[in-house]
Amino acid sequence: MLILDRFSFGVGDRFGQQARAQLQGFVRLAEQGINVTPVWNKSNREHTFIGSEPQSVRLAAQAAVTALGWNRPWHVDADHIRIGTVDRFMACSDFFTIDVADSIGRSPTPSVVEAFVERHPELIGRVAIPGIVTPFEISPAEVARVAAKYLLAVADAGEIYRHIVERKGGPGNFIAEVSMDETDAPQTPPELLIILAALADEGVRVQTIAPKFTGRFNKGVDYQGDLGKFEQEFNEDLAVIAFAVGRYSLPRNLKLSVHSGSDKFSLYPIIRRALQRTGAGLHIKTAGTTWLEELIGLAEAGGEGLALAQEIYAQALAHVDELSAPYASVIEIHRSDLPSAAMVRQWSGPHFAESLRHVPGHPIYNSSFRQLLHVAFKLAAKAGPRYLELVRAAEPVVAKNVTENVYDRHLKPLFIG
Ligand SMILES: [Zn+2]
Repeated sequence: MLILDRFSFGVGDRFGQQARAQLQGFVRLAEQGINVTPVWNKSNREHTFIGSEPQSVRLAAQAAVTALGWNRPWHVDADHIRIGTVDRFMACSDFFTIDVADSIGRSPTPSVVEAFVERHPELIGRVAIPGIVTPFEISPAEVARVAAKYLLAVADAGEIYRHIVERKGGPGNFIAEVSMDETDAPQTPPELLIILAALADEGVRVQTIAPKFTGRFNKGVDYQGDLGKFEQEFNEDLAVIAFAVGRYSLPRNLKLSVHSGSDKFSLYPIIRRALQRTGAGLHIKTAGTTWLEELIGLAEAGGEGLALAQEIYAQALAHVDELSAPYASVIEIHRSDLPSAAMVRQWSGPHFAESLRHVPGHPIYNSSFRQLLHVAFKLAAKAGPRYLELVRAAEPVVAKNVTENVYDRHLKPLFIG
């Protein structure tokens, strides 16, 4: 039976060059006595943009694991798959993020909703959950509303889950996550409870669930929103999950998955305190910001590396709209904060690196510059072998940046403090 550990951390590696430097961050954490399982994730969309095959993620991860003698678990996540995209991940993935956001809000037939409400009298009225101060008060109409909104999404999750069970030869051969984060409205803790009851009905042995949280999770930059509100919601979600595991016989290791879009540094102390206080587990997924560490390394290496980084920026600036469009809801670029291409061409390597590296409060860190470059990875893909050769030539400085980013800015603040 494949069981996901208490703590796991998802890393992206768009060009498949940094698995070893990323893993080095987990090694460093393990040396401090804290075990976090690395999960390499890459979505179908990323593979399509870059022209890579899912198997390449497993090969890169396997090579890193062998090189560093990593003898703890690790996984390869088929990130945000649906029924139409899951098959190409079947051979290489042992972790599947089943994305059902598209079905949220599509209404099932009224009789299905009625049957759900009848089957779950325990969800109606006063629902007291250990760890939540004010018990939920849920009316029958509210259960019906939530059921109408989410039951088709849950049914979709069931269909995809059973498809994977069949192809993988049983439910014990993979880890199932259900994600509902790529939608408009956050799920409240009472909604999460109802969704978990429905997933249990559907027979989905879900080990992690990724709700949409309150606030903005822009790609590659810090959280924007009410920290107090996030903390309350996060803590209530943890309590709801612990409660639902017992009540609905869901997998005992079921935990929250935070699809962070990377670098939600201001949430890390909140999350760390909650995990310490409750003993809960966590999966946290980051986006492919590792490629920005490659750019930082190229800039620091100087010469041709710096020239290519400057060139990629100039092209990105010339195509802001086109590059931003697919990510419109998860980036926030202020045009007036973007330096001109001519200006960036004058920058030294360290100046470029410090403008891009995510050190909030650093005098020249520029979040618009960072977000634009983050969505510009297609340009590096277009540069192809030239990009990869320069990254390889700058390997020591790139690897140092990748490892420090994973360890110092993510793993340490999340799990050590
Ligand atoms: Zn997500």
